[in-house]
Amino acid sequence: MAGKEKISHLRDEFTSKLKEVSTTEELEKLRVEFIGRKGKVTQLLKEIPNLPPEERKEFGKACNVLKAEIESAVKEKLKELKEKEKRERLEKERIDVTLPGRRRGLGALHPVTKTLKEIVKIFTSMGFTVAEGPEIETDFYNFEALNIPKGHPAREMQDTFYISDDVVLRTHTSPVQVRVMEKHQPPIQIIAPGKVYRKDADVTHTPMFHQVEGLMVDEKVTFADLKGVLEVFLKEVFGSDTKVRFRPSYFPFTEPSAEVDIGCVICGGKGCKVCKGTGWLEILGCGMVDPAVFKAVEINPETYQGFAFGMGVERIAMLKYGIDDLRLFFENDLRFLRQFRGV
Ligand SMILES: [Zn+2]
Repeated sequence: MAGKEKISHLRDEFTSKLKEVSTTEELEKLRVEFIGRKGKVTQLLKEIPNLPPEERKEFGKACNVLKAEIESAVKEKLKELKEKEKRERLEKERIDVTLPGRRRGLGALHPVTKTLKEIVKIFTSMGFTVAEGPEIETDFYNFEALNIPKGHPAREMQDTFYISDDVVLRTHTSPVQVRVMEKHQPPIQIIAPGKVYRKDADVTHTPMFHQVEGLMVDEKVTFADLKGVLEVFLKEVFGSDTKVRFRPSYFPFTEPSAEVDIGCVICGGKGCKVCKGTGWLEILGCGMVDPAVFKAVEINPETYQGFAFGMGVERIAMLKYGIDDLRLFFENDLRFLRQFRGV
């Protein structure tokens, strides 16, 4: 092929390849292919010494013209591509300020937490202070000091999680009462809210649940004080029309002991499935502190009397919000939990 033809051939090749280029990277590749150190035009220039002397000058000139043409075409194309890439980048990064903002997920208190807070608020308004204690307890605080010695049938009533022979997950918050009475002489007026543990699981029992217990110890504390405090509390929670009744019962750490019922909040006392047709709902246990408990913590039962009560927070939340399965509280289903936002 003659020199001139080679040059025009290369020019055509370059022109058609340039049309295909769509990125700056591709353009750089093309530039190297033609006018790089080992490029096609560069190779052509190296052929000059093999040409007849009379053709050398013209051929060399034509090569340099082609080289210059390619250089300027590359430069032009580079400018065009850079602008195009800039436009594309800006388009991609464009922020539409007219779009609506993303809604933030708003959390809410769990219904059990809400109920617990309400209970605490009512009792603190009556002068009780909040006391806390460990969830892992010794047998002494959980049973022994509460008049439940080893072999006592009351131990069977509570399906206890044992960590070792002497260490348990507390089955009630009563050990907090013992710990407070050990450290403080009366007057004592506390509530002990917290988690308790029992080996139990069905629609009305979970292995972990919350209790609030209360204790008031002073001179001349009577059963009438107990009744008054609990009636005020229950009417605050369930409404001022709530009927309250006390039934004799048995607990090892109180004497006398009572169970407290309220008029069924579901049927209003006519009788329904929830109250098993009785019109009454069992809501808490209470009684006057047994002198044996006072003796264990060195408080003189001749001088002081006291009352104690305890309730399950989940049970109160279930009745308050009309929930029939306790397990719903612990499944963390947001569709369930969302219903309590703003309640
Ligand atoms: Zn009922």
